[in-house]
Amino acid sequence: MTETGATPAIIAATSALEERLPFADTTDLEDAERGFIGALRPGQVFAADGRVVWDADAWASVLELERPETVNPSLWRQARLVALHGLYEVTDGVYQVRGMDLSNMTLIEGDTGVIVIDPLVSTETAAAALALYREHRGNRPVTAVIYTHSHVDHFGGVRGVVSGEDVAAGRIPVLAPEGFVEHAVAENVYAGPAMARRAAYMYGAALPVGPAGQLGAGLGMTVSTGTVTLIPPTLDVTRTGQEEVLDGVRVVFQVTPGTEAPSEMNFLFPDLGALCMAENATHTLHNLLTLRGALVRDPHAWAHYLTEAVDLFADATSVEFASHHWPTWGRERVVALLTEQRDLYAYLHDQTLRLLNKGYVGAEIAEMFELPPGLERAWHTHGYYGSASHNAKAVYQRYMGWFDGNPGHLWPHPPEQAGRRYVEAIGGPEALLEVARRAFTNGDYRWVGELVGHLVYADPGNTAARELQAAAFEQLGFGAENATWRNFYLVGAAELRGDKVGTPTVAASPDVLAQLSLGRLFDSVAIRVDGPRAGDLRIGVDWTVTGPDGEHQYWSRLSNGVLSHGDGAGREKADAVVRADRQGLLALFSGQAGPDELRESGSLTIEGAADALGRMLGVLDSADPGFAIVTPRPRER
Ligand SMILES: [Zn+2]
Repeated sequence: MTETGATPAIIAATSALEERLPFADTTDLEDAERGFIGALRPGQVFAADGRVVWDADAWASVLELERPETVNPSLWRQARLVALHGLYEVTDGVYQVRGMDLSNMTLIEGDTGVIVIDPLVSTETAAAALALYREHRGNRPVTAVIYTHSHVDHFGGVRGVVSGEDVAAGRIPVLAPEGFVEHAVAENVYAGPAMARRAAYMYGAALPVGPAGQLGAGLGMTVSTGTVTLIPPTLDVTRTGQEEVLDGVRVVFQVTPGTEAPSEMNFLFPDLGALCMAENATHTLHNLLTLRGALVRDPHAWAHYLTEAVDLFADATSVEFASHHWPTWGRERVVALLTEQRDLYAYLHDQTLRLLNKGYVGAEIAEMFELPPGLERAWHTHGYYGSASHNAKAVYQRYMGWFDGNPGHLWPHPPEQAGRRYVEAIGGPEALLEVARRAFTNGDYRWVGELVGHLVYADPGNTAARELQAAAFEQLGFGAENATWRNFYLVGAAELRGDKVGTPTVAASPDVLAQLSLGRLFDSVAIRVDGPRAGDLRIGVDWTVTGPDGEHQYWSRLSNGVLSHGDGAGREKADAVVRADRQGLLALFSGQAGPDELRESGSLTIEGAADALGRMLGVLDSADPGFAIVTPRPRER
C-alpha cells in the first residue's frame, strides 16, 4: 500500500485543534481505567479454525507512542480510551468486559449466578469475555441474558454465553425490548448485503492497524469477525415501568423505541444504584444516520427519552453505564452527561429544522452547523462515530428526502455519464488533473476528491487520477476527528489503489436467517427477482412449510417481475405445490441446494408442473458482497 505522511495543511489544521481542546481534563481516562481487574493476555481471540477474530493488542503498540501527524489529536485521545481492554468493576456486583469487541458485555451478579447484558458480536469474543470474568469472579453460571437493543453487536455472541437448549427449556430467561427479533432480523434482510459492504468501509476491519491506518471506530475499536448467532428472547419488555426480578436482582425498564435503534430500552437496577443507558447515551455524538446505511433515526424521540430517563432514574442512580465506552460515577455527573446528550440530539434536530425552514439544504446546514459552547466543551459530544455534519444531513433527509428542491438536481446524469461530461468540459483528463493537483497543493482535498472522482468514473483505468484521489482521501482521513470518516476515506483510498477490500463481517448468519418469519423470508426472495429477466413470466407456486410448530400454507405468484406472496392458498390455481421443511426452504432460496437435490434427499416434494419451481428460482439474482464503492460498478446488461 502506498503511504504518505500528513501534508502541512493537515498538520496545521490538527495542531490548531490541539490548542483549542481541553486536553488537560483527564476525567475520561480516570473513568475508563477505574475498577480495572485484569485483561486477556495475550489479547487475541480465535475461531475454531485458528483464525484471529479479535486482537485487543493490535492497537497498543501504535497508541503508546506520541501522536503521529497522520491522526487527528481528538480521535487519538478517543482511540486511546476505547482501546483499553479487560474486566472492570463498575460497582459492587456490577462488572464490564470492555475492549473485547465493538461493544461492552456487562455482568450483574445475582443470588446464584450472573446476568449477562449484551453478549457482543461473536460467540468467540463473548465466550472469551465471560471466561475472563469467571477467571476473576469464580465460575458463576449465567442466569439471565438481556439484549439492550436490536443491533448485532448486542446479541451476536449469545451462543457463546448460553445454550439454546437451556433457554428453550426455560432455565435461562432472555429479555429484550418489544419488537427485538423483527428489527434484528429485518435490518439484515432488505439491504443487508449493502450494509455489510459499507460497514467494511465504516469500521475499516480489513484495514491494517497503524498510524496511517485503522485506529478504531470511535464507538469501539472495530467489529469482531467470528460467529454471529441469535437466540430469540423469551420475555419481552413492553412498557416503561415494567419491573422484573432476575436471579434475585430487581430491574426497572424504560422502553425507548425509535432512538438509537428501533427496538431499545434503558433500565435501572434500583438496589444497586446502577443505570444502564443501552446505546442511548455514550461518550460520542452518535449517528442519526449511520454511514453504513440504515433508516434515519429520530433525534426528537431520542432527546425525549433522555429527558424521561433522567426523570425516572437519576435520583436512584449512583453509577451509569452503557453498552459502549466507560461508566460515569456520581448522580450529578450522570445527570450532566444525560442532559448534555439530550441537548445534543435536540439541538441537531431543532436547528436543522430552523435552517431548512429558511430554505437551506442539507449540505449548507451541515457546513453552518456549530454546537453551542457548553456542548462543544464536553468531550462526549464530539463526533467520533456520528458527526454534526452527517447528522444534520440526516435530519434534512428525515423530513425532506433526497431532493433539495432545485430542479437542476432533479435529473442529473449518473456518475459515469456526468464524469465524461465534466472531463470534456474542463478540457480533457490532463487539464482536470492539473486543476486538481493545484488544489491538492493548496490543501483543498475535498475539491480534489470531488473533481478527480469525475475522471475516475469517466476512465477507471487512469492510474494518475486514481492515485491523486487516493492521496486526497488519505489526507482527509488523517485530518478527520470522526473515526468512521477516517475509515471510509482510508478504505476508499485502498480501493483506488487496487488493494483487496474485503467484507469481513456479515450479520445475516444462518442463526439470524432462521428467525425470519415466512413473510420476511419470501420478502428476501422477492428482492432478488431479476425484474427485466422475469418481466413476462407468470408462475404460481403454493407451499406447505412443515416445522416443529406444525404446517403452514403459503402462496407465491410471479408476475410482471414481482414475486407476491402471503399466507394460505393463492386465489388462482398454482402451477405447482411444493412441500418442504424450513431447512429445505432456506437451502433452496440461498442456493445451497437445488430442487432436484432436495427431492432426492426427501426434504422436498413437488406436485404439478415439475419445472415451475426451477423457473421461478432461475430468475433470482444474487447480491455482490464485495461491490466497488469509489470506482464504477459493472454495467447491468
Ligand atoms: Zn452498539
